[in-house]
Amino acid sequence: MDSGTARKILDDCLRRHDALAGQLKDVGFLWQGSVSKRYLTCGKSSCPCHQDPAQRHGPYLYWSSKVAGRSVSKALSGPQAQVVQQWVANRVRFDSIVEQMKQVAKEALEAASVLQQEREREAGQ
Ligand SMILES: [Zn+2]
Repeated sequence: MDSGTARKILDDCLRRHDALAGQLKDVGFLWQGSVSKRYLTCGKSSCPCHQDPAQRHGPYLYWSSKVAGRSVSKALSGPQAQVVQQWVANRVRFDSIVEQMKQVAKEALEAASVLQQEREREAGQ
């Protein structure tokens, strides 16, 4: 790869990196784990929920995650569920942006190496 091509590729990667970095600051609060709906049977054995899965109670919202390698799960109250759902969605978006940034860096590596080599050559002269 010649240095002109390398410069062009690197500039393009830098532009994409900066655009992604700019998106990160607007993502908002981040919350690990995930939120899921559960339908449960109650304590009354005469209740239809014990016979028919469609009659189970809910949905109840639960947050779950791995903490120190162990799965943890916690019931969420209505307003808390709304907030945690939003923050989990923020984190998913954040992670996806970071993944894209890593991809851009992969694409930039060869061009950056070519330009680095050129700098070293010039410094050696
Ligand atoms: Zn029931």
